Amino acid sequence: MGDRHIRDIVIIGGGTAGWMAAAALAKVLGRGASIRLVESEAIGTVGVGEATVPHLKLFNKVLEIDEIEFLKQVQGTFKLGIEFVDWRRPGDRYVHGFGTIGHDYGMLPFHQFWIKAFNAGNATDIGAYSLNTAAAPLGKFMASATDVPPASPLANIAYAYHFDAGLYARFLRGYAEARGVRRTEGKVVNTLLRDVDGSIEAVVLDSGERIDGDLFIDCSGFRGLLIEQVLHTGYDDWTHWLPCDRAMAVPCENVGPPTPYTRSTARASGWQWRIPLQHRTGNGYVYSSRYISDDEVAAVLLKNLDGHAMADPRVLKFTTGRRKKFWNKNCVAIGLASGFLEPLESTSIFLIQSGITRLLNLFPDKGFSPVVIDRYNAQATFEIERIRDFLILHYHATERNDTPFWNYCRTMDIPAPLEDTIGLFEDSGRFFRNAEEMFAITSWVQVMLGQHIQPRNYHPLVDRMPDKQLNEFVGGVKNVIATCVDAMPMHAAFIARHCAATAPQTP
Ligand SMILES: Cc1cc2nc3c(=O)[nH]c(=O)nc-3n(C[C@H](O)[C@H](O)[C@H](O)COP(=O)(O)OP(=O)(O)OC[C@H]3O[C@@H](n4cnc5c(N)ncnc54)[C@H](O)[C@@H]3O)c2cc1C
Repeated sequence: MGDRHIRDIVIIGGGTAGWMAAAALAKVLGRGASIRLVESEAIGTVGVGEATVPHLKLFNKVLEIDEIEFLKQVQGTFKLGIEFVDWRRPGDRYVHGFGTIGHDYGMLPFHQFWIKAFNAGNATDIGAYSLNTAAAPLGKFMASATDVPPASPLANIAYAYHFDAGLYARFLRGYAEARGVRRTEGKVVNTLLRDVDGSIEAVVLDSGERIDGDLFIDCSGFRGLLIEQVLHTGYDDWTHWLPCDRAMAVPCENVGPPTPYTRSTARASGWQWRIPLQHRTGNGYVYSSRYISDDEVAAVLLKNLDGHAMADPRVLKFTTGRRKKFWNKNCVAIGLASGFLEPLESTSIFLIQSGITRLLNLFPDKGFSPVVIDRYNAQATFEIERIRDFLILHYHATERNDTPFWNYCRTMDIPAPLEDTIGLFEDSGRFFRNAEEMFAITSWVQVMLGQHIQPRNYHPLVDRMPDKQLNEFVGGVKNVIATCVDAMPMHAAFIARHCAATAPQTP
């Protein structure tokens, strides 16, 4: 029996993906397997990826990472959602907040009642009915309260983090090494395949060292060292739906307290991010090189920083899409090696987490059963394609007609499942979360409304509630949210009190 078990796991790459995988595998597998990680300082990491989604809290929980200690180490701040500025049209803004909107009644989600009240002029913008969306622009934040009734919006606050990518990798490295992961500095220069089935037998480093493994995890970044360069898995290119193919990133000095949200501002040929950390603010312009030059991007980016730039702007090139297989033979690609969706909804680190979880759920033995591999690939494909569609929604459902870039996005063909989703929502505000898709109904609803997809009607069952009761219900939710937001402390004060970093430095 013992012979079946995977004993030697080799991870190629020490970016966020490599160290997240190493940390999680070490925690879950314990000393039952040998885990080695190879990384090359000469090649370096992508060095961006600083905004997350609430799922990361679960990752930290599984790893038993203390939240406060973690935030101190990574110069972290809290994130209640994303503010989208100028996306629907210049001058417009909305927040995609995490968490709930109002509360459901019977079998209907809150927004169904809100549609009726709003169309009758008896409700305000949907943002006033969600704690996160109302609190974020006011700079308020707190963790869930334990001394309030369980039904209070303050009892269950959904949030994510912003953090310094370099410090995060360093933090996870310490965690993984303490649990037995062996790190080797070096560059993989050769790969040996097994004659019998073409699977990977070993990698060879520039030092001449040979590292054998049963399972290889390719976390080598965009190059996909094993999954593509060795196994020639192939890539589906989605640039025709998500036309941005570059980003220019630059950190700047903080001006004012950190906001508890990421900001995404639509620009002439893409959009600009703003991610507040304790010791600096991360910025970047994600753009399509078909419509704008690097020089033009640099000028706009540098003009729109809060404080002084702390480095020269850096260009990153990418091709949006995914590997045709995430798991091929005895190699699983995780992180940028597996594919890339631009950072509009901060989903890449989530996809790393999800890939690791899926690998653990479908952990193989040395037989590498094809049904296990097929299931992994099917789930991962479904997941990334639904996120892809959510991103396309932001670009496509716009009224912007001021540049060739936006004209392209507004008029392009979109995937059929997304067309169905939009059509059903336009008809009667209905949305159904498919199986294991990442984003919940509240995310889709906020972005569809924010991009001005206004439902023509609401669910017929809403009319079973008398109008007076409906208006009181909807108005009552708004009052409760306002009262709760009032009671929340400022984000900056919360950080200063609980999780201010002591050593403000990036590796
Ligand atoms: C512009 C931009 C913005 C982003 N923003 C966000 C965000 O806000 N939120 C989010 O969730 N994600 C974001 N991402 C994605 C996020 O940065 C990545 O998912 C994350 O950093 C993981 O990267 P990685 O570890 O897969 O690759 P990398 O960081 O590129 O690491 C690759 C590793 O492989 C090693 N390596 C490569 N070749 C070899 C070799 N031959 N031998 C040995 N080692 C080798 C390198 O040394 C390195 O350690 C963003 C990405 C981009 C491009």
